[in-house]
Amino acid sequence: MTWKILIGAVVVVSGIVVFTACRDQRPERFKTVEAVENPVKGNDMAKEDKVVKTGEEWRKELTTEQYRILREKGTERAFTGTFHDLKKSGVYICAACENELFSSGDKFDSGTGWPSYTRPIDDTAVATLPDRSLFVTRTEVVCDRCGGHLGHVFEDGPAPTGLRYCINSAALDFVPEDRAEDKNMK
Ligand code: FE
Repeated sequence: MTWKILIGAVVVVSGIVVFTACRDQRPERFKTVEAVENPVKGNDMAKEDKVVKTGEEWRKELTTEQYRILREKGTERAFTGTFHDLKKSGVYICAACENELFSSGDKFDSGTGWPSYTRPIDDTAVATLPDRSLFVTRTEVVCDRCGGHLGHVFEDGPAPTGLRYCINSAALDFVPEDRAEDKNMK
């Protein structure tokens, strides 16, 4: 009889562990914008503004490193990217579709070796979705126009948002301020 109780206890404990591991642990404000494939988005961008291409098409347009990060959710090694230490004024755009993503005014030195921002350039720039690839659920950041993987957002950033958008340099291109103004960028 004792072994039945023991097995029952093991089943209950396992159930609790699995439930806890699978639970979406992201803060409420990250749960409003879901997968980029979903046409009903958490922002006002028109559906026709989306960029949808096949893997083969992206391979032709992107470098091997860009493809690995943007389309295969890779991560560049810390301190190896082009922009982690860049302090120039300008706009960071998506390396795949040129969507305006981050402003240099929101960039800060996080000491992590990846370009870090307190917020996207506006509400329509990026989308977030749960990333359960590690034991702890993280919040993935993707370009809202092409769905390309950019990095992750964490809640240990400085004011005013308290957020840290940790982004791969290879997912970005940089447009200096004077050229950004010529192009009427945000
Ligand atoms: Fe993009």
